[in-house]
Amino acid sequence: MNYKAILSQKGYRLSAPRKQIIELLEVADVALSPQQIHNQLQQNGSALGLVSVYRTLGLLTELGLVTILYDPQLNPGYVLRTQGHHHHIVCQNCHKALEFPATNDIDSLVERVEKQTSFQVRDHLLQLFGLCPDCKQPDSKGVLS
Ligand SMILES: [Zn+2]
Ligand SMILES: [Zn+2]
Repeated sequence: MNYKAILSQKGYRLSAPRKQIIELLEVADVALSPQQIHNQLQQNGSALGLVSVYRTLGLLTELGLVTILYDPQLNPGYVLRTQGHHHHIVCQNCHKALEFPATNDIDSLVERVEKQTSFQVRDHLLQLFGLCPDCKQPDSKGVLS
């Protein structure tokens, strides 16, 4: 994805802190907490402070370039997100996060909840957990078939 183009489209430039954080998230296959991002940037020789990391992540989240993932075993972390309707699946063992395109799969759930609660559903937060191909039991497929 061309993050520079998306930022400038929304009236922002690709400043050094934004570039550094986006580049870090681009190569990560797990969600990174602000503290982890700060530590890794420091290791790369960046002087970006933790407050700036939080502020930059806040802006990137607002612009829809990154999103927060939740993991019961870890602090909430950030990943890059593709434009459009997507969700993430997170490995419960190695914490790898993968994005997948969303469909209208939960439409029937939303309809049922609106009927049951009289709420008007306007948004949702959906994240799946499981075991990635590397962490699945190697024989689980064989046992099932
Ligand atoms: Zn895994
Ligand atoms: Zn969705």
